[in-house]
Amino acid sequence: MVSEMGGHRYLNRYSPEWREFRYFRPEEFACPCCGRVYVLERLVRLLDLVREAWGAPIRVESGYRCPDYNRRIRGAPNSAHVIGAAADIWPKLQGPLGHCRAKFLSLLQLRGFRRFGLWHDFGFHVDLGDLVDPHTYIAPSIWIY
Ligand SMILES: [Zn+2]
Repeated sequence: MVSEMGGHRYLNRYSPEWREFRYFRPEEFACPCCGRVYVLERLVRLLDLVREAWGAPIRVESGYRCPDYNRRIRGAPNSAHVIGAAADIWPKLQGPLGHCRAKFLSLLQLRGFRRFGLWHDFGFHVDLGDLVDPHTYIAPSIWIY
């Protein structure tokens, strides 16, 4: 089942669209506190393509966060995780860190991602907040954690 929000398609835990994705399951995007799954269909679809191109596992550390959970972990008040538009991902390294970071970033950009947070290890926050609300979620943007 797909719900529509401002013309954007969202998935819940039971959406049949999950069967179209080769690499990701709804549990990986669930809020850790309440288990709710609420995620932009486009986010998962693009990540699935990026995962295929990367050719190695990508661990989803954080997907949807309900407002309560986001507050508890002191996430940004307007975090794109709360609107189901963001994921924190750790791809498996396949070579030197700087080289992998450049390659992975270009894969993300090729698929249309325009907002990134980078960790010092091989972790990426990616979000499509700019598609949902371009005034709040400025694109392009890159920040460092
Ligand atoms: Zn929750």
